[in-house]
Amino acid sequence: MRKPLPLLSRVLRHPRNAMAVVKGNKKTTYGELVLTSSALAAQLQPQFDGAGPSRLAYLLPPSSSYASASLASLALGTACVPFCTSHTVTELAYYLSDSKPKILLAQGEEFLDRATKAVESADLKGETAVLDYDDIVTTGGMSSDDAYTSGLLTAARASLDDPALFIYTSGTTGKPKGVVATHNSFTAQITDLHDAWEWSNDDYILHYLPLHHVHGIQNKLNCALYAGATVEFLKFSAPGIWSRLADADKPKPTLMMGVPTVYAKLLEESRTLSKTSQKTLDAGVDICKGMRLHVCGSAALPSAVMQAWKDLTGHTLLERYGMSELGMALGNPYRGERHEGHVGLPFPSVEVRIVDSDTNKEVPKGEGSGELQVRGGTVFKEYFGKPEATAKEFKDGWFCTGDIAEFNTELNSYKILGRASVDIIKSGGYKISALDIEREILEHDCVEEVVVVGVDDDMKGEIICVLLRLKAGMATEVDAFGEGGLKGWMKGFTAPYKLPSKVQIMEEIPKNAMGKYAKKELKKLFL
Ligand code: ATP
Ligand code: MG
Repeated sequence: MRKPLPLLSRVLRHPRNAMAVVKGNKKTTYGELVLTSSALAAQLQPQFDGAGPSRLAYLLPPSSSYASASLASLALGTACVPFCTSHTVTELAYYLSDSKPKILLAQGEEFLDRATKAVESADLKGETAVLDYDDIVTTGGMSSDDAYTSGLLTAARASLDDPALFIYTSGTTGKPKGVVATHNSFTAQITDLHDAWEWSNDDYILHYLPLHHVHGIQNKLNCALYAGATVEFLKFSAPGIWSRLADADKPKPTLMMGVPTVYAKLLEESRTLSKTSQKTLDAGVDICKGMRLHVCGSAALPSAVMQAWKDLTGHTLLERYGMSELGMALGNPYRGERHEGHVGLPFPSVEVRIVDSDTNKEVPKGEGSGELQVRGGTVFKEYFGKPEATAKEFKDGWFCTGDIAEFNTELNSYKILGRASVDIIKSGGYKISALDIEREILEHDCVEEVVVVGVDDDMKGEIICVLLRLKAGMATEVDAFGEGGLKGWMKGFTAPYKLPSKVQIMEEIPKNAMGKYAKKELKKLFL
């Protein structure tokens, strides 16, 4: 008999009465989670028997149902394909057509309705069955002891090279691609973070990120399940998080993780107190001070946000860098100095190098910037159904991230300069990092949010264009932050070639579900 897969084997060893998932008043212990996952796996097993490599998709709310479905899927040796709960029928139809799952599990009337319509719209009625989670989770008389000994979770039906998880990229630079992680890479993505960030069963984490991206799935949910920790799901709103933190009747979280926007929104609420009382904020900040780690990533962390968060909570955010294709590749140290604007060193399972984008020759450490390439245990197997796209992204066994980075020998740390495709602006013979300019502009007292893009220009190749959202109450100051105002302010500390040519002030800058900007689309605002 094959060995249990690592995540399942860990889940089976945690104390049965320890709390695994909390959502509102519903609390699910590890014992209950094992029971529902086993029951689900037993119900689904006939559908997957002899099916060969196949996929179990789910449209489930962030809850213990989601955790049970993903554990059941691992046990069945099929790959998990988690869908985004806010996607429309049309969007879901795209992911369905791309991944062609055997089953799409959905829970609740609205999700079931959307799932059924999406399967119809994708013309997959003969191929993908929509099943009601609540109908098939029945235990059929299975006891907790049966669940622990029945063998479904303990005998892996997959080999470690089989697909375990499909994650669709954020679609920041084009149509989302289905990234296939094998059981090996899936596990390495979890264990790297589990060890580096010293997860333990004493940990308690608030989970408010989408559960169809690596950040929400691996860094938060699966690391917690691996460690025997508790995950509490709640919807993100800055006032909501502050009041949850301040709630003295609820367990105190030990860890905090988010994209930069999460911290920026919490900071904005702390300044404006739009729906939070000073007392609640003070109590929330106090809880933050007692936590052991605050992590940030998935997009560049602005220095102004890092500094303001430190001033408010005392925490130096640990910035890390990762991708759907790799899990996390680089991170600042858990113990040791964290450098602003930097993403630290590789996690144990991976190696990284910087190469000249034109020649693919390695740039010696500390001697300039180039494309970041990664290889090792966490790296994905393929883009599903896209052999050409997969082949294009690997060179000599290294995965080409498409991100430009440099190594700082003094700090012994990597820095991400941005995506080669949209963040490196080629203007007047210079290569300029949009992320660096964004960091500078965010130092301005009146600026809440900024996006810098390069827009085609006959004279300079590209010009620097800036989208701004001002802090609340600054609307009357708009003129001062138009092109001339911002430029005038920047002249004091920025070289002339990095000054913006155009500035637009917006009430809201559109972002995708991961809080990222589709810069290719935003460029069009300047055409
Ligand atoms: P798509 O591949 O569909 O265009 P995406 O690249 O945004 O979308 P993800 O895999 O979710 O999809 O995001 C990975 C990217 O996020 C990285 O390639 C990098 O550009 C960016 N990123 C992640 N962490 C950081 C960080 N700490 N600093 C700067 N950029 C980061
Ligand atoms: Mg990408």
